Amino acid sequence: MAKHDMAQAFTEMAEATAQLHFGVFDKRVLLPLSQLPDHVLGETKEVLARERVDELLEGGWVPRIGLEDGRELGFPLYVPSRVGLFLELERQGYSPAELRAIASHEEEYIDNILATEDFAYIDDDREALLNEWRHELPVFEARLAHVLGQKKQPTGYETPEELNQQIGRLRRSIDFLESHPEESMSAEQKEKTTRMAHRVRFFHEYLRVMLVNHLRDQVRAGYSPYLHFRSASWQSDGPPVFGPVLWELVLDGPWTWEGDVPIRLPGLQLKGDQVIHTRVLRPAEYEDCWKRYDLDHYFRLLARRRGERRCPQCHALLPSGTHELRQYCSPECRGNAKMQRYRDRQRSESRRVAEWEDLEALHSAAEGASGSA
Ligand SMILES: [Zn+2]
Repeated sequence: MAKHDMAQAFTEMAEATAQLHFGVFDKRVLLPLSQLPDHVLGETKEVLARERVDELLEGGWVPRIGLEDGRELGFPLYVPSRVGLFLELERQGYSPAELRAIASHEEEYIDNILATEDFAYIDDDREALLNEWRHELPVFEARLAHVLGQKKQPTGYETPEELNQQIGRLRRSIDFLESHPEESMSAEQKEKTTRMAHRVRFFHEYLRVMLVNHLRDQVRAGYSPYLHFRSASWQSDGPPVFGPVLWELVLDGPWTWEGDVPIRLPGLQLKGDQVIHTRVLRPAEYEDCWKRYDLDHYFRLLARRRGERRCPQCHALLPSGTHELRQYCSPECRGNAKMQRYRDRQRSESRRVAEWEDLEALHSAAEGASGSA
């Protein structure tokens, strides 16, 4: 499908959903906890016994959030599909500690990336658009600086003229909305603002769902969710394909060994220098796994890290006698490392989408709005 057909299809989808409210990862949008088993069954066909609900709160599968009236606990809309997946993993032998770690990784990803800053859920249309454009402006400015810094104009990229146009458009749109509070807008301007805000929300929700599905697909394929790969591709039909593991990133990663949970690879678990089989492997298969996951490299890096004992974030020496699987000097360094990894992941995945979604489509209407100022 050509790029412009895709943008057109995308715009049509946004128009068709104009009445929908998006809030899959919005922790203000909750359903009563008593309804969880029905939603798990409806969404995933998995059976969650009613008497297990309290245990899931304790086990970290479900975040503990109160409904507004303060009487009953509620669950956000991304939870039933997670519970369905976890029930499946539980049958495969995942331990409670592992499931807790996977849930907490996903929760942090939601809180720190999917529902904040440029991805924040904002109810006011004007504020939602301003937030989107104010976050986008520096991205385009950085792209312009990058293109201008190149000796030769790379083919297939935007030209400085195109980027300048885009930046001008964004600035005019921001100026227009900043100087026009809702009460000063004409009916037509209001309607346009609502329509544009809906498109932005539609696109954000689409990205959020995709990003979480990618995380979960990685888990479904038998890998820990925080593993990084040299390459990964998600096909529209069939399971994702993962390239070689980037052991340098993984061994310095803030989630590795958290809660003493092993690293999962299809067929294997790694815990320090222990290799644990999760299914029976014939010698030839074992050798194949060893090569495919490059465990030689894993063990080399592990040995080197043990010799060095430095915090991968600030490079401070760890005090002697530190537990051999502990990596960071402080909770602050571990937290900073997490944020960095989340952003890297989100950036590389959003870029993949931006390649085929013509984002320009989201802005063409904005020019109209500022033109009519
Ligand atoms: Zn540190």
